[in-house]
Amino acid sequence: MEELRRMILEKGKGIGADIVKLDMFLNHRIDTALLFRMGEAWADEFRDEKPDMVLTVEASGIAMAIAAAHALGDIPVVFAKKSNTAVLGSETVQAGVYSFTHKTQNTIRIERRYLPEGARVLIIDDFLADGQAARGLLSLCEQQKAVVIGVGIAVEKGFQPGGKELRDAGIRVKSLAIVDRIEDGKIVLRPDDE
Ligand code: 5GP
Repeated sequence: MEELRRMILEKGKGIGADIVKLDMFLNHRIDTALLFRMGEAWADEFRDEKPDMVLTVEASGIAMAIAAAHALGDIPVVFAKKSNTAVLGSETVQAGVYSFTHKTQNTIRIERRYLPEGARVLIIDDFLADGQAARGLLSLCEQQKAVVIGVGIAVEKGFQPGGKELRDAGIRVKSLAIVDRIEDGKIVLRPDDE
């Protein structure tokens, strides 16, 4: 997606060899016009699969999931929670996720009734790195016998294995931009194949 690619090059920063910082417009301060155009890009990609809900994980994925769900005709968004609150019902489905940015092991959970058997699910997230978050969400869907129609990602880090592993497993992945590498703090994008 050209507009997102331009923003990454203009406003993004590379930290060390493998962290992409897009806080200025994606996951701290949010450029809402860009956000909703990203939603349209995912909707154009996955509309033919007729998803009936969008699934993500808190917190950064939620805004993007809403944009996609709105563009798909205001279907519901369900987000997996990272902490176990008293409000959460006892009937939950859970999966373990190792966080790349925080270097911690988390459990993500959803009330089972919000991810019903047979639901056609589009998974959305901000970054795809090692694929842990996506695999955790896939596991929730598998446990609930929901149907994953695809995975929409804002920024895939092409130098980490998550994207390749998901595609090799036969999952349809649409990343709106792919980072090839970080060079002296500068983000280098993979040429666009659109
Ligand atoms: P994965 O589970 O694919 O290894 O990592 C994906 C999750 O880790 C995303 O939900 C995202 O929040 C976080 N993440 C991974 N790499 C980066 C990065 O370079 N920058 C930021 N801001 N978040 C990242």
